[in-house]
Amino acid sequence: MINYSKPNITTKDIKIVKKVLQSGFLTQGDYVKKFEKKLCSYFGAKYACTLSNGTMGLYILGKALNWCQKDLIITTPNTFLATANCITYNNANIKFIDINPKTFCIDIDQLKQFLLKNKQKVSAIIGVDFAGNTCDWRELRQLQKKYKFLLINDNCHALGSFYFKSKKYALKYADFIVHSYHGIKNFTTGEGGAILTNDKNIYQKVKNLTNHGVINKYTSRPWERTMINLGYNLRLSDISCALGISQLDNLDNNNNKRRLIAKNYINNLSFSDKIRFQQIAKNCTSSYHLFPISFDFNKIQITKKDLYNFFYKNNIKLQSHYPPIHLNDYYRKKFNFKKGDFPNAENYYNNSFSFPCYPKLNQKEFDLVISCIKKIIL
Ligand SMILES: *Cc1c(COP(=O)(O)O)cnc(C)c1O
Repeated sequence: MINYSKPNITTKDIKIVKKVLQSGFLTQGDYVKKFEKKLCSYFGAKYACTLSNGTMGLYILGKALNWCQKDLIITTPNTFLATANCITYNNANIKFIDINPKTFCIDIDQLKQFLLKNKQKVSAIIGVDFAGNTCDWRELRQLQKKYKFLLINDNCHALGSFYFKSKKYALKYADFIVHSYHGIKNFTTGEGGAILTNDKNIYQKVKNLTNHGVINKYTSRPWERTMINLGYNLRLSDISCALGISQLDNLDNNNNKRRLIAKNYINNLSFSDKIRFQQIAKNCTSSYHLFPISFDFNKIQITKKDLYNFFYKNNIKLQSHYPPIHLNDYYRKKFNFKKGDFPNAENYYNNSFSFPCYPKLNQKEFDLVISCIKKIIL
């Protein structure tokens, strides 16, 4: 079966993990610090706090920012559940803004319209660099000056993307970045994630919350510890961090392979008016975490289900990212959301599949995918 994505684990990855397993320190040895240092230098952050996964990263960041019932947080419905759930876990209020129908990222015009008529203070906006395409961060930064909200980049898709020629863009525009290193992200620690920031206070708070809320009160008495916050165990292990170090070394290489595959999709298929690709922002070089293709189902005259089954029969397992958050049963019930509330996110989901785009996809597999798409659109 050809999947929409697949991790790329090298012999070097295996070697370094083996070394950790043999070292005697599995959870809190040197590799956590080394990995955090490497993340800081690659992504241009002063501080990095690794943790067990991206979902908990979003949650604990909200917790460190003291989100509660009084806070209003904006994000889009076209994202993985965790982006919205972190707001709900912290009992804060969600405001969804629909996506731009071409970029699939938050629609800046609709956001501006909302901010103009909105009377409640907005505490934060969580932008999602969807599929690796960057949000309009310059505009978001401009809006921040006027409205004084915090900017958070749910950067899970865009590991290694460029914005205005920089891979360090995320913290130039946002106050906090949250990463996931889940197995199918552009680089992986198995499960894992991180919060990156230049804000020392919040960094110290999230670090503390990931480690039971405990601190060393007196440097002269290293055995004596005390709990200052109701913390958790959300640590990432040395095993995972060692894998992360080795994987991060390969990120640029792997992203270039993804970019080549994306280019080949476009070169092979852009003749057709029955499909559409994501419009990548002018100043962005995408990491192509996903490669979504949107179909004009009126023109191709088959249903989404038939299209899925056709590919499945040809050993290609497609995936659809994402069922709009507001239409999940939980969110429908809690907030009375209904179909039609965010038409751009709904249309995107109804018309699109994520196509195989990962470094290990070989030419034969790629050719099969292309020939299947051509059978549908010709
Ligand atoms: C993967 C992902 C997350 C959550 O990451 P986990 O590490 O799986 O918990 C959050 N947001 C987005 C956009 C993601 O793709």
